[in-house]
Amino acid sequence: MAFGWHVAGMAPAAGALPRPVQAVAWWLAVTAMAAAAVAGAALWSERRGIEALRAGGEHRIALYVSSLEGAIQRHDYLPVVLSMNEDVRRLLRDPGDAALRDRVNRYFATVTQEAQSATLYVMDASGLTLAASNWDTPQSFVGSNYAFRPYFRQAMTSGRGRFYAVGVTTGTPGLFLSHAVSDGGRTVGVLAVKVSLDALEEAWRNGPERVLVADGAGVAFLSSEPAWRFRTLDDPSAAELRRMSLSRQYAGVTLEPLAVTGRGDRHGAPVLAIRDPDGPGTTEYLMQSVALPGPDWRVVILSDPAPVTAAARTAAAVAAFAVVFLLLVVLYLRQRRRRILEGMAARDALETANVELRRAHEELEVRIAARTADLVAANARLTREVAERERAERVLREAQDELVQAGKLAMLGQMAAGITHELNQPLAAIRTYADNAVVLFDRGLHDDLRTNLVRIPHLVERMARITGQLKAFARKTKARAEPVPVGRAVHNALLLIEQRLAPEGVELICVPADPGIAVVFEEVRLEQVLINLFRNALDAMKGQPVRRLSIAVEVRGERVRIRVRDTGPGIPDDVLPRIFEPFFTTKDAAGLGLGLSISAGIVRDAGGQLTVDGGPGGAEFAVDLPRAGAGEASSVRGTA
Ligand code: ADP
Repeated sequence: MAFGWHVAGMAPAAGALPRPVQAVAWWLAVTAMAAAAVAGAALWSERRGIEALRAGGEHRIALYVSSLEGAIQRHDYLPVVLSMNEDVRRLLRDPGDAALRDRVNRYFATVTQEAQSATLYVMDASGLTLAASNWDTPQSFVGSNYAFRPYFRQAMTSGRGRFYAVGVTTGTPGLFLSHAVSDGGRTVGVLAVKVSLDALEEAWRNGPERVLVADGAGVAFLSSEPAWRFRTLDDPSAAELRRMSLSRQYAGVTLEPLAVTGRGDRHGAPVLAIRDPDGPGTTEYLMQSVALPGPDWRVVILSDPAPVTAAARTAAAVAAFAVVFLLLVVLYLRQRRRRILEGMAARDALETANVELRRAHEELEVRIAARTADLVAANARLTREVAERERAERVLREAQDELVQAGKLAMLGQMAAGITHELNQPLAAIRTYADNAVVLFDRGLHDDLRTNLVRIPHLVERMARITGQLKAFARKTKARAEPVPVGRAVHNALLLIEQRLAPEGVELICVPADPGIAVVFEEVRLEQVLINLFRNALDAMKGQPVRRLSIAVEVRGERVRIRVRDTGPGIPDDVLPRIFEPFFTTKDAAGLGLGLSISAGIVRDAGGQLTVDGGPGGAEFAVDLPRAGAGEASSVRGTA
């Protein structure tokens, strides 16, 4: 089939009913089919049951008829045989013969006993009973006249009679069979036997259905249900009623109709609803009847169709179960189909996702390869650049070293004038002391002379120190870093600018530092940095109303900070970022623009930092250096 196992087939076609409506329609159809199946099964079962009941009824009704006929035939011969009895004929000829009558009575009694029939008796042509088998009982028929009975008249006219009636003498019902007694070609009397059918009724009572035998007037004179005896099945006609009353057929009995509450039809079979004889309810019966061939009697059987109804219910239940089972199977198959479809859809989706994934993976790999190639190229470029930088840095460092040297030389030039002045002072003093020494020697003032001479080496020493500074400053090679007492370095640096303070009216505020405070540095270089900072401060304060140079040394944990503050104009924001650049200067021809750049490099080399605060109120430079250990400091103190 084209439809079914395709996911696309699941989608509702354009113009089809919406899903919920489809579901409702499906369930309605299923419910209708289920109801039809259940009803059909119930009907089919009922029809089958009714048919079976009818077939069984027909069979059984034939049995009832034959049992009834058997009971009649068993006694039918008696009046025939006894009508031929010579004593009977003689009695009819001579009714006054008492001995004969007695003999006949006794003979009848014996026969009755043998044949187990109810009562045998003989009547003369007027209907008067001459002899009877019950001659010696209180209900004796002898002397009674039964000329009004139909069986008597039938026998008198047609030779034989048959009649069912309630006995007028005994009051008990029975079947009267009669036969004419002929003598010399003439009917002289009638011989009759009354047979009781109680045993038959009794036997029928055990059967599965109710059995009734009704006469031509519709009176049920035999019934397996005692309460229904002498009930009328149909309404007897007025003529019938007159006939019955004349023959005193059911004398002493009130004829009432059978309590039929409804008549109907089930699958072509007539159905009667009869009120139960021993309760308030009614029972439905399937009615079947058959007419007897001889008299106008009919045998009626009433079968209870309850088992058929029960069987129909069972069939309906079975059908319902079958429908439910079928429904479950259908639902299971639908579910299974849906699951298979879902599985297929999921597999398709998975496959699609897999393909996508594979494609994405391939794309990723291509991209990674491209990116890797880029990275390799970039790496190579970087490596090249790093090499380039390193080379540039090396060149720069060499250039810087050169610059440092050049800066130093330049500074040396600048300092030369100051130093000359610096040296001139002690030289002049030494000369004065020397001149004085000669005078004092001449005068013989030995004590004064001595004092004078002792001063000279001091001055020489000072000069030597100044020249020593210069030597160290001009040196290119790096000296070994050692603990330098900060106070001494500041003092030595101040010595070189001292001569500018007084002429320029600069106030110096310098708290001498604790000689124990030392930093790891090359002493000359630290002095060079400080001289540079002092000089810049003095330059900045030129022409300023307040000229104050403040120097302070602070210990901050493992670091030492030397702060150099001035009261100059400070450093403008646009200048500040550039002051550490080599050759940046605002001093026209006077400045080289190397001082701060070299100083920052020196401090950085020593593991320190040179920072600036541009103002306002003047600039403050700070040299931050690692502090020398306690042991080193003590050794420093010893040499200070
Ligand atoms: P130079 O002193 O030869 O100009 P420096 O590198 O020592 O070179 O200084 C660079 C510049 O920094 C100076 O030209 C000046 O503009 C500025 N500068 C340095 N110190 C101070 C200061 N204490 N106050 C104001 N400006 C300063």
